[in-house]
Amino acid sequence: MSELDEIREKVDIVELISRYVALKPSGKGYKGRCPFHPDDTPSFHVSPEKKLWHCFGCGAGGDAIGFLMRIERLSFREALERLAAELGVELKRSGEREKLLKINAAAERFFQDSLHSPGGKPARDYLLSRGMGPEVWERYGLGYAPPSGTSLLSALSRWGISNLEKLGLIVKGERGYRDRFVDRVIFPIRDELGRTVAFAGRSLSGAEPKYLNSPNTPLFEKGTLLYGLDIAKEAIKSSGRAVLVEGYTDVISLQQAGILEAVCSMGTALTESQARRLSRYAREVVVAYDADAAGETSTLRGIGILLDAGLEVRVAPLPEGEDPDSLVRERGIGALHAAIAGAVDFQEFLLSIIPVRFDLSSLKGKEDALELVRSLWEHVKNPLLRREWVQKLSLLLRLPEEEVWKVLGGRISWKETADEGEPFGAEEVVLKFLLSGRLPEEKLVRLAPEDFSVEYRPIVKLWFERCVDGKAGPEPHVLAAELEPELQARLSRILLWDVNFSDEERALEEAWRKFHVLPKLEQRIESLREELTQAEKRGEREVLEKLQREYVELCRSRARVLKGEYEKQG
Ligand SMILES: [Zn+2]
Repeated sequence: MSELDEIREKVDIVELISRYVALKPSGKGYKGRCPFHPDDTPSFHVSPEKKLWHCFGCGAGGDAIGFLMRIERLSFREALERLAAELGVELKRSGEREKLLKINAAAERFFQDSLHSPGGKPARDYLLSRGMGPEVWERYGLGYAPPSGTSLLSALSRWGISNLEKLGLIVKGERGYRDRFVDRVIFPIRDELGRTVAFAGRSLSGAEPKYLNSPNTPLFEKGTLLYGLDIAKEAIKSSGRAVLVEGYTDVISLQQAGILEAVCSMGTALTESQARRLSRYAREVVVAYDADAAGETSTLRGIGILLDAGLEVRVAPLPEGEDPDSLVRERGIGALHAAIAGAVDFQEFLLSIIPVRFDLSSLKGKEDALELVRSLWEHVKNPLLRREWVQKLSLLLRLPEEEVWKVLGGRISWKETADEGEPFGAEEVVLKFLLSGRLPEEKLVRLAPEDFSVEYRPIVKLWFERCVDGKAGPEPHVLAAELEPELQARLSRILLWDVNFSDEERALEEAWRKFHVLPKLEQRIESLREELTQAEKRGEREVLEKLQREYVELCRSRARVLKGEYEKQG
């Protein structure tokens, strides 16, 4: 049993959650008020048997580790370490982590020495041309990976080839091992405690990619860290504000200009995990991405993720074509401070780009504009804010307010949709029987993951993969452990859905009819219709007659199924 499995087995989910939520017994599980949204009616369910929790108000859900991550705003590793310590499970890796950190520190020194060596001149020239002098090299540990391709390998070989490979410092090629970073300026990536856990290298020769990062290693998981946070975190804590930029050099420029709260998501789009990490320190985030189309798109995406992490969001308007780094170099520190100070509410930002992006005199332009707003709508939970948006949009687009409401989905507040969440349909009923291992075999053999809608498909796929002999499915918390947070919440919603069918068999038959029998029939009817057209075109009389008989027969079956009188052949 792995350490992870051991923790998952040992943890008492009810005890853990009751440290934060007053739980009362209810049915086979417990109920309480959700700690993640203002909850009047207890919507928060915990199942000790399934080792899962779910809130039917806001839709959050998952396993014990997921709960701890969310409520304490921890990373996966941090939540794991905390539970391990409590449960007395020893995480064997900690000794190895120390060693790997030492090797990374040695690699960092190697890169720094190369920067200062005679061969490091191109890198020094590049950095100086970007306004980064020796004091910056020192503060950020900047370095240089020489062009030979084996320099680091030979300098650090005493640490062992396998360790260097594990850290992604070397890679195996056709002619043996060689350095990952070749002829690149090196930016060490540090965790919040300032320990170097990975590297990013900027190409000097024009080789692609422009920025190359360490792969995932035991020390570094992509999409979880924020570059610059080791320096920024104290400033963010005291001001409550973080400034999110796109690149490494933007972070350095801002921090050098005295805006210490700058961080970036390192070459990838901002992730939920990064937003959560930020929300441990910040109340508000100012997004200062590049002022171009790509930057605008990343900004819109980022806003949704930041709002979901409970952060307030503002957007700094940079002059067309500039990024924070170029702005400082071309127009001085004052221009940068002015841009950050002039950051506007995200809704104001959105309203400002709409007339630029779309032709609002046409209906198509208005539709596209509303489509853009819709992409952020679900992240805005505040009913007052929603109302304000609708008013402003209605003025801007010259559409009646009711029209705007309708297009945006009409959800005025989540109170109205909340308590029950989205209604449960036939698909959910079948899914509940399947996932709790109560779907009769004659139905099970007729099911495939593709029968389910996209939102559930990955769950069902994994369930089938983890099935023993194609029958006994995995335990709910084992299944949950392998799913992304969003899918975990969908799983817990189905499994913790507290329903008592008066006649279980009938409820299943009814759902099966709607979810499985009918759609399959419709499919066959649809393809038959196509065949009929073809046969008619080709004038094949006999075939046509045969198909017509089949068609009529199928339509009769459909009528019977619709009336509920169908044979249980599936
Ligand atoms: Zn909730």
